[in-house]
Amino acid sequence: MSGLELRNIVKNFGAVEVIRDVSLEVNDGEFVAFVGPSGCGKSTLLRLIAGLDKPTGGSIAIDGKDVTAIGAADRGLAMVFQSYALYPHMSVRENLAFGLENTKVAKAEIEARIADAARMLEIEPFLQRRPGQLSGGQRQRVAIGRAIVRRPDAFLLDEPLSNLDAELRVSMRAELAALHARLKATMIYVTHDQVEAMTLANRIVVLRGGRIEQVGTPLELYNEPANRFVAGFIGAPH
Ligand code: ADP
Ligand code: MG
Repeated sequence: MSGLELRNIVKNFGAVEVIRDVSLEVNDGEFVAFVGPSGCGKSTLLRLIAGLDKPTGGSIAIDGKDVTAIGAADRGLAMVFQSYALYPHMSVRENLAFGLENTKVAKAEIEARIADAARMLEIEPFLQRRPGQLSGGQRQRVAIGRAIVRRPDAFLLDEPLSNLDAELRVSMRAELAALHARLKATMIYVTHDQVEAMTLANRIVVLRGGRIEQVGTPLELYNEPANRFVAGFIGAPH
């Protein structure tokens, strides 16, 4: 198959089972949201997909190839964190280029990618600034830009908007939707915000206590929740 396949993923931290037998397929180009209450395992699952951590059991395949034992750098994915994780002592341009400079990507190609991402995200005026001189929204765009310049097959986003104020969250939501439409890359998006998941995702994965409660389109979850937990989570006002 083409895309991502998780088979019977288990993750323990010490004696605690944090991810319990999660199986899931994500097709190329899908926008999938992981939702669920704090501590249900969303970030852990994303880190396992990214290759930043190894599962205790089960396997992960990308485009039919088993990557369970393969490190993050060789999975063709890019992660965007809630905390931006930008380097404070580097300019925006340097932040975007960092990690690409010592690869096979040619210098001119790096420049072209930075220019393209900067235009797309409207951060051209800030390329020479340091992250500390930017607003939260601008910093978040730089963090997304840093993922874009890598040309990943998939973006893994962990609550990328949760540090922003409400108004900015809504406008960034629209930007993410536009980005997905333009790049046609797979997006796996962790959020505890149901509205964000409902408006952005093609499919929603509802997690509780390290297990999948239900997977479906926003409409399916809304109209036919599998249980009261899903109904409460999707239907609850935010
Ligand atoms: P979420 O992102 O849904 O809020 P997490 O995936 O961060 O949840 O955490 C799931 C559970 O795993 C929590 O109980 C958390 O305390 C625990 N956990 C996460 N990372 C670690 C770790 N490195 N060591 C021990 N426990 C962890
Ligand atoms: Mg989390």
